[in-house]
Amino acid sequence: MPTAELQALDVAHHIHPFSTQEDLQKKGARVITSAKGVWLKDSEGEDVLDAMAGLWCVNIGYGREELAEAAFRQMKELPYYNTFFMTTHVPVIALAAKLAEMAPGDLNHVFFASSGSEANDTNIRLVRTYWQEKGKPEKKVIISRWNAYHGSSVASSSLGGMKGMHAQSGYIPDMHHIDQPNWWSEGGESTPEDFGLERAQQLEQAILEIGEDKVAAFIAEPVQGAGGVIIPPSTYWPEIQRICDKYEILLIADEVICGFGRTGNWFGSQTMGIKPDIMTIAKGLSSGYQPIGGSIVSDEVAAVIGATEFNHGYTYSGHPVACAVALENLRILEEEKIVDTLRDDTGPYLQEKFRSLAEHPMVGEAQIIGAMGSLALTPNKATRAPFKAETGTVGYMVRERCFANNLVMRHVGDRMIISPPLVITKAEIDILIERAWKSLDEGMANVKA
Ligand code: PLP
Repeated sequence: MPTAELQALDVAHHIHPFSTQEDLQKKGARVITSAKGVWLKDSEGEDVLDAMAGLWCVNIGYGREELAEAAFRQMKELPYYNTFFMTTHVPVIALAAKLAEMAPGDLNHVFFASSGSEANDTNIRLVRTYWQEKGKPEKKVIISRWNAYHGSSVASSSLGGMKGMHAQSGYIPDMHHIDQPNWWSEGGESTPEDFGLERAQQLEQAILEIGEDKVAAFIAEPVQGAGGVIIPPSTYWPEIQRICDKYEILLIADEVICGFGRTGNWFGSQTMGIKPDIMTIAKGLSSGYQPIGGSIVSDEVAAVIGATEFNHGYTYSGHPVACAVALENLRILEEEKIVDTLRDDTGPYLQEKFRSLAEHPMVGEAQIIGAMGSLALTPNKATRAPFKAETGTVGYMVRERCFANNLVMRHVGDRMIISPPLVITKAEIDILIERAWKSLDEGMANVKA
């Protein structure tokens, strides 16, 4: 079917997440037909470099047949079963044991879901059940950060701090938000270190205002992803850890993006040197080849929850096909030393090249850790000023130019984001940087003075 016909059918019958009907009607969605490595192919035969790994998830790269074979084998053997009511199966046992081996510290117990949103919903119920079982049922409030993304369900979007999402569907009670450690945009005259400390101390202030007997947990990504790849100043996480320890607040690290190599270690918690009680995982767990997520909890949390029946579970919790695919994905990541290569070889190359984009007249800052990075666009590097509202979203314009230049980058306001498959090669990094620079030039040409 010709592309135009596909696009017309698409806009007529398919409701897209995070897209406007007007845009879809005017421009037509790009129809992706196949993919290999870091490259997408569209219905017009164009090759597009995917510098976002889909939605930050295809860590292993596209087109790995071993994963398709693992799914096929598992579908023939046992296509579905659940682990409710005293049953289990081999893939879920193997994956839980593997994750317990990989996760840091005593994070040894996994509750499975099909997505990051479901896993974060699970976390809300886990922490509240935990405190109930500990005889402190009034400990219910979960503190999160403005601009954080923790999922799209009503509960996980309440946990998140995206005001646009709250405005559309409301939010559940007992959620509280503090500011994120975005020094570039909000740090003013302070040093990054002072600013990181000040933003972390907002957690302590919130706990004291709400009452330490009411606060159950703090949730954050080690490095905030969809909020704009905000790499916290070095002072931030040690202070957050100190506060959580001091007030006995459970620390939930949302590793949906950071997990499975994205920051150069298996988990972002290792990169940031933190010891969470619970980790949310999804995306890179299966490299997006199957929908799977989960919560990995500490021995202590598991022991307390285990004293009661946890009244929670999804039909597809621990789906055998998803587990088999995740196991194969982890095997390849390990055996091919993909995370090690990123940390020691391609990562430093990517980081150096990406930082060179800060020389572009419109880029104020290029932040990158592992293989996740962002460019802050600004009309004035010295003052770090944002673009005027009437200029429109410059990030959106640059993203459009990237797309026209066969490069997928994402924009968050006036930040341009990359999060490519971890298997990206040096030659592909060069193409990425060259196309990004060209798109920035073209975007800049369109900006009204
Ligand atoms: N948490 C974080 C940090 C995310 O980035 C996302 C998705 O982007 C989610 C949770 C939600 O995951 P899912 O889209 O699989 O529900």
